[in-house]
Amino acid sequence: MEPFEYNANPGRVVFGSGTLKRLSDELARQKLSAPLLLSTPQQVDQANSLKDVLSGKIAGVFTEATMHTPTHVTEKALEYAKQTGADCVVAIGGGSTTGLGKAISVRTGLPHICIPTTYAGSEMTPILGETAEGKKTTRTDPKILPGTVIYDVDLTMTLPPGLSATSGVNAIAHSIEALYAKNTNPIVSLLALEGISALTSSLPAIVEDPRSVPARQKALYGAWLCGTCLGSVGMALHHKLCHTLGGSFNLPHAETHTIVLPHALAYNAPAIPEVMQKLGQAFKVPGMEGEQDAIKGINLLLTKLKVKRGLKEFGMKEEDIDKAAEIAVSNPYYNPRPVEKDRIRELIRRAWAGEEAR
Ligand code: NAD
Repeated sequence: MEPFEYNANPGRVVFGSGTLKRLSDELARQKLSAPLLLSTPQQVDQANSLKDVLSGKIAGVFTEATMHTPTHVTEKALEYAKQTGADCVVAIGGGSTTGLGKAISVRTGLPHICIPTTYAGSEMTPILGETAEGKKTTRTDPKILPGTVIYDVDLTMTLPPGLSATSGVNAIAHSIEALYAKNTNPIVSLLALEGISALTSSLPAIVEDPRSVPARQKALYGAWLCGTCLGSVGMALHHKLCHTLGGSFNLPHAETHTIVLPHALAYNAPAIPEVMQKLGQAFKVPGMEGEQDAIKGINLLLTKLKVKRGLKEFGMKEEDIDKAAEIAVSNPYYNPRPVEKDRIRELIRRAWAGEEAR
């Protein structure tokens, strides 16, 4: 066995169905009494349900969380937190709301209790991406990690099938890149493979029946493990490409991850034979029994999930392919296979056109 280093992120996790009801106890454990509730405008109902759970004992509700954590929204929320005398933040939602919770908490030191409702995994990471004047920057600091995470499967029942699918593939991407990370280790690999198996087996069932409780439970469990991988080790080509594409061409987060993942994996495959073998075994897509080819597995998974396969369907223009390739190779970073501009251009072209990965 190769020598390795393993850093566990601290953080308390409460997992199950109906766990939202435990919020009062969690606040009491930490001697907190004036939470500021955070959500997006689309999840006001879920924020209000929190208010009911706490019998109205809150500092306030701020419902303007926005994708990519714009700093002007954070400033508005900070002002509101100060006015209302909040002693902590409780974020209910996907990565956008979690991002706002992190942004407030890291600036003020207020404890952050996070209640995720998608599979993006941000709640398990000490990473914060913020946008100011159209530019997204990312930083890592142990103080950014939420102190407590409450996973309540019931809250994911309303996640539309399309978003469940892309958000779930976003999670799978964290685990795939964790397997070949520069600082990967046996513990993270265990979590990654278990997370991939849980999500590849449950996501097709969710798309078939979004009300399936066993599938929802398995998917959220898998997403937690995948988020842990993202928070523990460094990422490579796939995440860098998605960051470039999302930031430069205003493409949606989870959908971009879903389109790029098979192509990024196919690009790296020749450099990671052992990982490809493990992945082939971990993919549990219904219909690939006996088949252990990870690229075939991911193509089959995306077909079953009925997701869009081309970046052009989200407004990226053909002439942007060259620009994207240029930006993608401009900052050197670790990747198991050297990042070569012509090959990366071809990868982006395929993802743009919506071709199958091979
Ligand atoms: P999101 O939080 O933007 O949610 C997408 C939409 O779905 C929103 O309108 C939201 O209100 C709605 N929604 C969420 N959960 C729902 C539910 N259960 N039922 C109904 N509607 C629901 O999307 P996301 O993909 O979770 O997060 C994307 C953002 O998170 C990006 O900004 C990305 O950069 C960031 N992110 C950060 C990290 C990190 O570690 N820092 C990790 C992953 C993602």
